[in-house]
Amino acid sequence: MDIRKRMLELEQIINEANYNYYTLDAPTISDFEYDKYLKELIKLEEEYPEYKSDNSPTVKIGGVVLDKFLKYTHTEAMMSLANSFNFEELKEFDERVSKEVSGYDYVLELKIDGLAISLVYEEGLLVKAATRGDGTIGEDVTSNIKTIKTVPLKLKENISIIVRGEVFMPYSSFNKLNEQREKEGLELFRNPRNAAAGTVRQLDSSVVASRNLDMFSYAIVNPSNYNLKTQVEVLEYLKTLGFKVNNNYVLVNDIDSAIDEINKYDILRKELSYDTDGVVIKVNEFNLQEELGFTVKHPKWAIAYKFAPEEVSTKLYDITYQVGRTGVITPVAELEPVLISGSVVSRATLHNEDFIKNLDVRIGDYVVVRKAGEIIPEVVKVLLEERKNTEPFEMIHKCPSCLETIYRDADEADWYCINPLCPAQAVNKIIHFASRDAMNIGMLGEKVVKQLYDEGILKDIIDIYNLKNHYDEMIDLERMGEKRVQNLLRAIEESKTRSLDRLLFGLGIRHVGAKISKILVTNYPSLDLLKEAKKEDLLNIFEIGDSIASSVVNFFSSDYAEKLILKFNEIGINTTYEVKNEEITDNPFKDKVVVLTGKLEKFTRGEAKALIESLGGNVTSSVSKNTDLVVAGTDAGSKLKEAERLNIKVVDEETFIGMVNNG
Ligand code: NAD
Repeated sequence: MDIRKRMLELEQIINEANYNYYTLDAPTISDFEYDKYLKELIKLEEEYPEYKSDNSPTVKIGGVVLDKFLKYTHTEAMMSLANSFNFEELKEFDERVSKEVSGYDYVLELKIDGLAISLVYEEGLLVKAATRGDGTIGEDVTSNIKTIKTVPLKLKENISIIVRGEVFMPYSSFNKLNEQREKEGLELFRNPRNAAAGTVRQLDSSVVASRNLDMFSYAIVNPSNYNLKTQVEVLEYLKTLGFKVNNNYVLVNDIDSAIDEINKYDILRKELSYDTDGVVIKVNEFNLQEELGFTVKHPKWAIAYKFAPEEVSTKLYDITYQVGRTGVITPVAELEPVLISGSVVSRATLHNEDFIKNLDVRIGDYVVVRKAGEIIPEVVKVLLEERKNTEPFEMIHKCPSCLETIYRDADEADWYCINPLCPAQAVNKIIHFASRDAMNIGMLGEKVVKQLYDEGILKDIIDIYNLKNHYDEMIDLERMGEKRVQNLLRAIEESKTRSLDRLLFGLGIRHVGAKISKILVTNYPSLDLLKEAKKEDLLNIFEIGDSIASSVVNFFSSDYAEKLILKFNEIGINTTYEVKNEEITDNPFKDKVVVLTGKLEKFTRGEAKALIESLGGNVTSSVSKNTDLVVAGTDAGSKLKEAERLNIKVVDEETFIGMVNNG
């Protein structure tokens, strides 16, 4: 295996996952898979430090801060936690601790699966609440956090203090929210964490208030200012100030006792009314924490132990098939409903034919189902001892939607329906185009799209913008009526102004996810420009590899794309990309594409990026001919060379500071 290539590939997968998870609150892979990729990359970076990129996701915290909120700079960085997945790794952590300090205890707390929030109080009053963001700069979400009943607006003492904790959505609120969304035909939240993160990053505080978020607080910045010497004292003090603290914490004096307690937590967590993804183990004494210190990403005095995904057994009574928007056929296990991690599961993915045959899954079997990171539950094994009179599995050979013959390439695991007129594919393409992270036409969920498809008035993406000509037909449809149709048409009209990266993502081009779309449009700021891009041009962009480039070029050379773009332009859909920051006055960064490289002395990368963005500039990670400016710190490498080769303006840090002051 080409190690360097694998490392780049892992970086790309993790960066894309980070963007979907932290920025869009819509993960596309499970936490279990994510942790596996990250672990592989960390291991390779240890073995091959010469291949490690400056920008590796192994040293970055969190995601991109969204423009829709004001930015907030944390006075003390909000760090991540090192992870461990088995007791062996926990013991290694303990060995590292014991080499540096002695006489320590551990305090164990449940790891609540929500999002970290920092609360700033001045003289007893809540004045700011911010997300972690990239650890240095977060989003100011004060008005949203103020709606959470367990966040005190006024403390029981008149002090100034920064408190940190986890905002989460209890299962009851999560299930209620998704039931409501299902009724309204809206996309469902995948798990309580995403629902909480998506809710906190809502612009409308009344929506936040209606969703019943909750918060457990667990940390104080600079605790010695309040005469606190241990983590347990912090937890107790937080309670006296009026914060909600999770009482399931325990103090132990060695790692073996910690492991015993973790085993108890693994049972306890199944009875809780909120999601937890592990236990956090912290050295209790602050003077020892100080001696241990931090890495760039996390404290050395704490570690998270991640629970294995929850598994339960149930009966599989049928195998059905789903046809995706690319024509891929996915077998699905239909299950006797069971409760896993707070929600009822009645279907689980079986991935593909080989997966089923390898596990020897058969209709009528009892199977073990796992909800990994709560994305889509999957079948992990068959309980052979419970098997009675079952027949071996046989894959179907006709598409369940259009009944055409399906195909499988020798080197692929999936079967595909290649009929361009297949209804299931068309419906899923439209659903994807209208989905939250694409054109966000909230009303066009699965039910409505299917209904309109069956009526023959919505057969393709482009028909969405023709629906206004079918007003009378639509108001007579079941569950529609005038009001809903008017809302639908308004949502469709509004979608015409969505930014180009969303439109591009919505087209569902193979390998072009939300992050790649953003990268493509910052390099090619209009559909007309992107359409003309040659494969070799696309390959000049750092993040774009062979398969993405081919896929983009193939798509845009099709007659379908040609027609689509013509139609988009004709009906006035936004097909260009620009920084919509009209209030920003002219300055050297406004509307400019800037690349940062090398080490800056006065700023972290995150700070420099935030500065440029606040002045209306766009920061991209790779140099291409669309780059306007490269800011080069010390030890700048290949990006600087590329900028010189392409004749792009390069400035050093001092000049950069001058330009910022100017701006
Ligand atoms: P983390 O979730 O592993 O740990 C740090 C966080 O734990 C803190 O920021 C805090 O929010 C939280 N926490 C909860 N209870 C706590 C307590 N009692 N004390 C201290 N902290 C507590 O780190 P992270 O950087 O937030 O996220 C990384 C994890 O997120 C990954 O391991 C993965 O599981 C998940 N992730 C998944 C995807 C995906 O695509 N599925 C993408 C990115 C990240």
